[in-house]
Amino acid sequence: MCERVRPLTFHHLFPLTCHSNKWFKKNFSREEMKRGIYICRSCHSYIHDIHSEKELGRYFNTKEALLADEKIQRLVDWVKGH
Ligand SMILES: [Zn+2]
Repeated sequence: MCERVRPLTFHHLFPLTCHSNKWFKKNFSREEMKRGIYICRSCHSYIHDIHSEKELGRYFNTKEALLADEKIQRLVDWVKGH
């Protein structure tokens, strides 16, 4: 997300705690819920700091949605300037 050259970690776009949740099961297939993106450790920690796993799964389940978040945009802009 921040475009820095960093070791990457796997982020489940649907956190594992969502997989057995009724709402998620109704709205997404098992295959869809396996989706993830590779992001660096600091971006990864940050998105988990500012959003609960349910929010991440529900509202931020694509890279585009994550990048559209105002707080994440601010972090990414800050990081790029350093
Ligand atoms: Zn990053």
